[in-house]
Amino acid sequence: MTCLKAENIYKSYTDTNRRVDVLKGINLSIEAGETIAIIGPSGAGKSTLLHVLGGLDSPDRGKVFLEGRDLYRLSDVERSAARNRDIGFVFQFYHLLPELNALDNVLLPVFIRQNVRQRTPELVEQGVASLREVGLVSRLDHKPGQLSGGEHQRVAIARALVNRPKVVLCDEPTGNLDSVTGDAIIDLLLALNEKVGQAFVIVTHDEHVAARCHRIVHVKDGQLTDQK
Ligand code: ADP
Ligand code: MG
Repeated sequence: MTCLKAENIYKSYTDTNRRVDVLKGINLSIEAGETIAIIGPSGAGKSTLLHVLGGLDSPDRGKVFLEGRDLYRLSDVERSAARNRDIGFVFQFYHLLPELNALDNVLLPVFIRQNVRQRTPELVEQGVASLREVGLVSRLDHKPGQLSGGEHQRVAIARALVNRPKVVLCDEPTGNLDSVTGDAIIDLLLALNEKVGQAFVIVTHDEHVAARCHRIVHVKDGQLTDQK
């Protein structure tokens, strides 16, 4: 079953006097439970594509369907809710809130989804379960400043998974980590894919990482080509 589908996506950016056509007719179907690596040179449009797929940045032309719903025809409120519920994001630079401990960072999407501000025992258990899945149950009360780079990314992965999304979009998740730590993060993402069955889209420069995914697509000249 297709969980996320991009149809004929075009996206340009215009700076002061220069127009950059970044995405030029992208088609991509992401099936439930699959892992896809997106590779391509720096500046090719990989992050732009992930943002468009994830409902963060509207395309100039084309459609994105999340579970069959046309994401950019939804109202802002509906699109935010759909994104919060069904899509997880993992970024190169983690984007954790420095003043919150690991558990509260992980619980943020839950607070947003349920429109609550207070921890309840059930919510805490949900956050702890997510941190347990990434091997960080001993770091609940640590703030980001007290965590290593790999631990930052584990917290970000726990946050991405906490609402049980259908698909997790990862933008160079190992790009800021040494190779051993990065490999462990990829091991974790692929193990979670096998265990929980979410689809993972992983932008990477690393051919070895890409080769471990079910499918590899290349972004080049604004278009996608499938490798396997
Ligand atoms: P990648 O992730 O593959 O390195 P990006 O998607 O970040 O590439 O960027 C693709 C191109 O679009 C680059 O040339 C970049 O400079 C340009 N670009 C990205 N975001 C913006 C923006 N907000 N405004 C103007 N240009 C942008
Ligand atoms: Mg990028």
